[in-house]
Amino acid sequence: MSIDVEKIVSEALENGFNFATSLDVSTMNPLPEVRDMCAADKCHAYNKNWSCPPACGTVDECAARIKEYTNGVIVQSTIELEDEFDFEGIAELGKRHGETSIKFNKYLHEKYPDMKILPLTAGGCTQCKECTYPDKPCRFPDRMMSPLEGYGIFVSDLCTKNDIPYNRGKGTLTYVGAFLFA
Ligand code: SF4
Repeated sequence: MSIDVEKIVSEALENGFNFATSLDVSTMNPLPEVRDMCAADKCHAYNKNWSCPPACGTVDECAARIKEYTNGVIVQSTIELEDEFDFEGIAELGKRHGETSIKFNKYLHEKYPDMKILPLTAGGCTQCKECTYPDKPCRFPDRMMSPLEGYGIFVSDLCTKNDIPYNRGKGTLTYVGAFLFA
C-alpha cells in the first residue's frame, strides 16, 4: 500500500511526541551486544513481558521481522530535568512516552487498518495493567510494543543515522521510539 510518511510524522506530533521524523528502515541494525544488556535486567522487564527478551524472539528473528517493513517514523519525548537527581522528572518522562506511544499506536491501527505496523518503544509493553506473560497468550499481539533495545537496536546510533539528535542539550532527557510500516 502507499504510505504517506510525512503525514504520519505530523500525526505523531499531533498525538503528543515532541519530535518526529521519517526513519530509514535500513538503519535498523539489531546487535547482539545491545540485546545482551537486556539480560542484565536493569529495567526489571527481562523475562517478565511478551514484548521483551527472551519472549520477543532472538536477535536474528527480530532482524527478520524488521525486514518485513519498508517505511517508518522515529519519535522522541523530551523533558528538562531540574538536576541529575530529578527522579520524578525521569519517571514522568517514562510515563508520558509510554502513554503517548500507546495512544499513537492505537491511532495508527484505527486510521490505517490495512497498514502493517511494528511499534517499538522504550521499555516493555505496558498496554495491559499486568502482562499475561508467561501463563497466557498476549492479549493484543498485533499491538504489542517491544523496546528498541529488546530488538538489539543501539538507540543513539539510530538517531544519528536518521539525522535526529539523541541528546537535546544539557539537563534534558529524551526517550525514543520507532513505528515501522508496510
Ligand atoms: S499487550 Fe498486554 S499481554 Fe501483550 S505484551 Fe503488552 S502488556 Fe503483555
